[in-house]
Amino acid sequence: MPKFLRFIRNLRLPNCSICNERVELETAKTDEDGKAVHEDCYVQRMIRLKEIVPPPKAS
Ligand SMILES: [Zn+2]
Repeated sequence: MPKFLRFIRNLRLPNCSICNERVELETAKTDEDGKAVHEDCYVQRMIRLKEIVPPPKAS
């Protein structure tokens, strides 16, 4: 990634919508609402959701 682009991105580094910590670009993910999340947080949330709501049957 070009240095200047990295600099600009750092200026608007988003917070994780799950844990509210700053999301590093290296671990940044986007959830289904287009919000920035940590990959770990996203996975953890998915696991939790799976325990509550069974996944829809693939047809
Ligand atoms: Zn997080």
